[in-house]
Amino acid sequence: MTRIAILGGGPAGVGAAFKLRQMEAADVVLFERNDYLGGNAGTFERNGHVLDFGSHRLHPVTEPEVLDDIMEFLGEDLLDRPRHGRIRLRGRWVHFPLKPVDLMFHLQPGFAAGALGDMVKKTLLGKGDEGETFGSILRANLGATICDDFYFPYARKIWGLAPEEMAGIQARRRVSAGSFGKLLKKVFGQIPGLKPKMSGRFYYPRHGFGAISQAYAQKAESLGAEILLGTSVAKLGHQEGRWTLEAESKLGTRKEEFDQIWSTIPLTTLTRLISNDVPEDVKAAADKISYRAMILVYLELETDQFTEFDAHYFPEADLLLTRLSETKNYAVRTEPQGRTVICAEVPCLVGDDTWRLDDASLGKKIEADLARCDLKLNCAVANTWTARLPQAYPLYPLGYEAPFETLDGWVSGLPDFLSYGRQGLFAHDNTHHALFMAYSAAKCLKDGHFDRTEWARYREIFSHHVVED
Ligand SMILES: Cc1cc2nc3c(=O)[nH]c(=O)nc-3n(C[C@H](O)[C@H](O)[C@H](O)COP(=O)(O)OP(=O)(O)OC[C@H]3O[C@@H](n4cnc5c(N)ncnc54)[C@H](O)[C@@H]3O)c2cc1C
Repeated sequence: MTRIAILGGGPAGVGAAFKLRQMEAADVVLFERNDYLGGNAGTFERNGHVLDFGSHRLHPVTEPEVLDDIMEFLGEDLLDRPRHGRIRLRGRWVHFPLKPVDLMFHLQPGFAAGALGDMVKKTLLGKGDEGETFGSILRANLGATICDDFYFPYARKIWGLAPEEMAGIQARRRVSAGSFGKLLKKVFGQIPGLKPKMSGRFYYPRHGFGAISQAYAQKAESLGAEILLGTSVAKLGHQEGRWTLEAESKLGTRKEEFDQIWSTIPLTTLTRLISNDVPEDVKAAADKISYRAMILVYLELETDQFTEFDAHYFPEADLLLTRLSETKNYAVRTEPQGRTVICAEVPCLVGDDTWRLDDASLGKKIEADLARCDLKLNCAVANTWTARLPQAYPLYPLGYEAPFETLDGWVSGLPDFLSYGRQGLFAHDNTHHALFMAYSAAKCLKDGHFDRTEWARYREIFSHHVVED
């Protein structure tokens, strides 16, 4: 049987390990450098708290085939929860998802009038030329008020770029309410009676978001896959129709041969891992592609619950954080009693001034930011921890397409090699997209041969994925 090495144990990796074994299509060994599964969508425990890497939800738009499997794996541990968050707009808190009555009472009048005026203008005059940047597309579709007060400052913080410096794909794939029509549909979709099933709701595993990846890995193992944690792939070489893989773990170096490599690790690291000749233009292209990093700042508070909300969103430019989540509220957890953890998401670049701040300084800055937003901590902070994600979001500055196509073209031409998943396709995707990619890849393997024509058709489908928040 074809022997496949899967690189990475995030959703894309474990999803393929499961599907390949379920279809009895290949022997599988999965290599994950961390000692936990789930990648950025993983979960860890600290002081009795179950913590995710920032706010993670399973969105109801998940492909039915994938959702059915997750429901079967997790059973009653997959909770169906209402979304209950808030966005800060011009100094006021507005419910998220947006609700008509809440908007009437809480939206700042100047903001409401501005957005309404922009909408009327678009309806009467049309949106005009959209242009090709994140900024021009959103401004043409949503007008100045929503862009200047929400999307643009938020985007500057998340990606560290001005709206005019970002490619249009960021607006088309990253903003699910990218026009007044879509926005109104979302708002009116919250009215009882008009509400589609699962609108304003999400799925969440009782034992943390990482339970999804853990369940996939467990299933894959029970079907014969080998899953290696704490094992980092350090070198790959292709000779005489076989791949040689070297991986490092506490036990030493492991060297093995495989028929195929399926990689979900960052696309940009492949030029360094693969020992065969890498063309100079490909190496140069890899250097031009980059990811935005994120620090997750966890504050353990000496109180049962900080607020009733699952998440708060902070577009203001002068605040360090973009989002705050309280993990206990996602799973209606009551344990541990007397303590809760809030998690602030702080986007940055690896090595920049923010990345270099120590945990205590980050904690103090978050505490100060929250106090400025009427979210003063009225209790002691027992502990501050951080987690640092070097590859949180792919960055799409204007002109990123050319180096991406060079790199992607080279990787796609490697024999018996597949790069997929959020990091492998450099796609700003959700977990359900990564799992759909994994299932699609497994279906392309026919009698040990990977059908590249069918994969190209799937990639066309992936290119229409829109990120859910
Ligand atoms: C802050 C934040 C919030 C998010 N919220 C949501 C949400 O609410 N809902 C949602 O659906 N999605 C959300 N996402 C996206 C979600 O995390 C990703 O879609 C998902 O993790 C992608 O899975 P993946 O397997 O493609 O990649 P990853 O999760 O990045 O997995 C890649 C894996 O490869 C491993 N690896 C890297 N190098 C090596 C090596 N050399 N050897 C072995 N292993 C290696 C890594 O350790 C990692 O485990 C969020 C992401 C972030 C950053």
